[in-house]
Parts: sequence; structure tokens; C-alpha cells
Amino acid sequence: MKELSNKIKDISPSLTLAITAKANQMKNQGINVIGFGAGEPDFNTPDNIQNAAINAMKAGFTKYTATSGITELKEAIIKKFSSDNNLNYTTSQVMVCTGGKQCIYNVFSAILNPGDEVLVPQPYWVSYPELIKLCNGIPVYVRAFEENNFKYQPNILENLITSKTKAILLNSPNNPTGAVYSKEELLKIAEIAKKYDLYIISDEMYEKLIYDDKKHISIASLSKDAYERTIVINGMSKTYAMTGWRLGYVAGNEEIIKLMTNLQSHVTSNPNTITQYASVEALNGPQESVFYMIREFKKRRDYMVNKINSINNLSCLKPEGAFYVMMNISKIIGKSYNNTIIKNSLVFADMLLEDQKVAVVPGAAFGEDNYVRLSYATSLNNIKEGLDRIEKFVAKI
Ligand code: PLP
Repeated sequence: MKELSNKIKDISPSLTLAITAKANQMKNQGINVIGFGAGEPDFNTPDNIQNAAINAMKAGFTKYTATSGITELKEAIIKKFSSDNNLNYTTSQVMVCTGGKQCIYNVFSAILNPGDEVLVPQPYWVSYPELIKLCNGIPVYVRAFEENNFKYQPNILENLITSKTKAILLNSPNNPTGAVYSKEELLKIAEIAKKYDLYIISDEMYEKLIYDDKKHISIASLSKDAYERTIVINGMSKTYAMTGWRLGYVAGNEEIIKLMTNLQSHVTSNPNTITQYASVEALNGPQESVFYMIREFKKRRDYMVNKINSINNLSCLKPEGAFYVMMNISKIIGKSYNNTIIKNSLVFADMLLEDQKVAVVPGAAFGEDNYVRLSYATSLNNIKEGLDRIEKFVAKI
């Protein structure tokens, strides 16, 4: 066989999907597995959204649409940006893609040339480095330490800027840490972007999943300069429990949106037409189901955080958004169980799954080996049972 693509051979499979697949396989074998791996709400898509999809099909909206999306949806997105984020866009500054992932891929494709560097917060969402590499860019990691609530420190960020730096990637609320940036913190990042003339790619997928009195602020809304250099990414997956429907949206500079649309026109064309109509209803229709989901996530987060911090040798911060907790296992790394040294997060996650049938995502997937990520997008009963099992496991080490 002739040699295959070196670029694609260099791409790692998503470790989060791999863990979920392994846990599901065990479940299918009848094993009682508690899964903390999920990167999606465990709620079903609200009825009004499902009905809108059925109505769209019945009305014959089953054909191709414009590559960048139907006008009704773009208008709904523009309205959302205006009322939620104080951001004003025209239809030529907005496009829809097949999930947030395709949005991010399109953005990197449109702005990167070979060797361009993108500053990525570490811990990072698993797909960022691979998507940057796919677009011939170089991810440059900016450590965001737990003692700084897992947020970018401006001096660390600035020290990593070179003549090749093209963009700063921002993800607030953050996957995997749940960190939410304040206005003051965002202003500092916007200032650095202006000083070095960098794009800001702001992934705001978890915008609505935010707790207590925290408020999501889009960095693009902070100044005219920030607005012009920021490309905002958002989507339906997390807010409306629509992960399987595949719809994300982007807003920003018209020229960039045009390049992205040209690219998408050859790769996938428009995102699923029925999903687009359902998304109009999601954005314009009643939002009670979103509020319900947020209340449920908050209860689960509070339980999870209190329980983890009550277990010897484990700890975690209280995340302000998204639905993940980064559990600090640094006191366990280096200890042994069953004659095996727990030398990193992968070994910890593997042993936990074998011993207690609890699936977590090793921090190595996010570039932080002293942690594992637990998702609380699962029922409170599962969370209680799963954490009791983790407590039992840790007590044996
Ligand atoms: N961005 C972040 C930070 C995510 O966690 C995810 C999904 O896990 C996405 C983007 C992509 O979401 P989707 O492609 O499902 O819309």
C-alpha cells in the first residue's frame, strides 16, 4: 500500500470519545458502569424543538439550503447576539456549520498559513490542538494553573508571543475546567491582542451553562477593536441538548466568513436543513428548558464538588460554568495499588474503570496529568454512586 497522509497520521483520536466508547462497551456487556465521561447534556432535546423539526420535514424543507445557512436562522442568531451579548452583526458576518467543531475547523482554515502559531489555554479541549495541526498551524500552550482558577495569566500569555503568533484562543466557560473569565480578565486579553495585532477566537459554546451570579461576557463586546479582531463561536449542542443534531454558528469579520463559506461549500455544503429549522425554534422559542437544565446542573455540581473535597487525597475547584470538574489527583500519582504504580492520569482512569467500573477522562487528554475530568451531565443518583465508588477506590491506594 502506498504511504498514507503524514498529516492525518499525526492526528490523535479523541480520548474523551474513546473513554465513552469503552464505558459503553462495558455497559453493553451488562456491567454496571458509572460514566463521568460525557461531553453532552443527559437531557433530551426539548419538545418544541423536536416538533419544529417534524414540521420542517412535513413542509418539505428537506433540500439543500445556502451554504452559510437559511436567512431565518441567521436572523435568529443575530437577534441572540444582540440581546444576549450586546453584539451587532449583519447576515454576511454570520454563518452556520455542522456543529461547533466545524466552525472551529473553518476558522483555523481561513486564518492560518503553514507555521502560524495559535495560543491555546492548557488544560485545553481535546480537539483544539488537532484542529490547529490539521490547518497546518502550531498550537502553543499557555499553562493556566489551578491556583489561578485555570485562567490565562497575561504575563505568561504575552511571553509566548512570537512573530508567528496569529491568534489567541479563548474558551469561556471552559471545557475542561469550568473557568469563566471576568470582564477585567477579558479586557487584559483584548489589550494584548490589540498590542500584537492578533485574532481572538472566542469559543462560547457553554455560554448559557453558568452558575451562581456569574455572567457570561463575550470578549468581542468589550471594544470596537475587540469586536473587529474576534471571531465568536457558539452552537446548539450544549445549550439546547442538541449534540446529535450538529449545528454551530460563527460571527465575525465578513471577509473571514466569506472564506469559511467557500471552504464549507466544497466540504459539507449547508448543515442539515431540518436541524436549521429546529434551531430557529430553539433560539426564538421558550427558554424554560434551558433554565431547568441549568438548575439541575448546579445541584449536581454542588454535590460533586462537596463530595470530592471531602475525600482524602482528592480535591477540586468549584467550576463556575460548563458541566465538568477537574479533580486533582496529584496526591495519588506515584502511589501504588495492586503492585502497580499509578504513574499518571491514564493509569488512574484505567484502574478506576477496572476496579470500580467508573469512567473518567484522564487529564492527559487535556494536557494536565495531575487531574481527571468528571462530567456532571449525568443523574444525581449516578453522581452519588460514582463518587462513593471513587472514595472506596482511593481509600485502598
Ligand atoms: N467547543 C468546546 C469547548 C466543546 O467542548 C465542544 C464539544 O464538546 C465543541 C466546541 C464542539 O461542539 P459541537 O461540535 O458538538 O457543536
